[in-house]
Amino acid sequence: MIVRTATFLQSNTKIDKLPTANKPEYAFIGRSNVGKSSLINMLTNKRQLAKTSSTPGKTITINHFLINEEWYLVDLPGYGFAQRSKKDREAWKVMLDNYIKGRKNLISMFVLVDSRIEPQKIDLEFISHLGELQMPFGIIFTKVDKIKEGELQRNVQVYKDKLAEEWEELPPIFITSSEKEIGKDDVLNYIEHLNDEMREVRF
Ligand code: GDP
Repeated sequence: MIVRTATFLQSNTKIDKLPTANKPEYAFIGRSNVGKSSLINMLTNKRQLAKTSSTPGKTITINHFLINEEWYLVDLPGYGFAQRSKKDREAWKVMLDNYIKGRKNLISMFVLVDSRIEPQKIDLEFISHLGELQMPFGIIFTKVDKIKEGELQRNVQVYKDKLAEEWEELPPIFITSSEKEIGKDDVLNYIEHLNDEMREVRF
């Protein structure tokens, strides 16, 4: 898929104020600093489209972008946020759950994980939670330019083994680097393929 246009639509805190759910939607999530903004900017060919979500004190919002007038890309706040209050974290959890359960045009989520580190409890818990909610998802390994090929293969295998403890079928896995523009086509073509499947669906 070639991204011809990418437009910021809105940042929202209310599920009932989101853009009309009439186009396929894909949401990106991960721990703060995982490289989510950089990845979104790489996918959309814009250097500044997604701003880093880790700014302390910044309102936690659901951020919608319209791509090629055809599908929505959603930038979700990073989970975890150690620097936020428990109340904030709880509120975000509720909002996120309501979003996942209620957004009928949400086709797949993408969980971003740092390729350099071992599977983190918070990511694995979130992935399990997606399973409970029966929400399809892919896993995107980020920052692969920062490690050697052998180490990357090992880390991905560790992740697969960990997932296999719980999942019979593994999710799609993407290897990416925003720095080196690796994996861009893999993610975009996967989305295009899902969009094609959704062509006849009315949400
Ligand atoms: P976010 O908080 O998940 O949105 O993360 P950012 O996209 O703001 O990235 C966090 C930090 O990691 C920044 O300093 C980025 O420059 C760096 N970063 C992000 N992606 C990559 C990558 O693919 N390769 C390298 N080397 N650094 C990256």
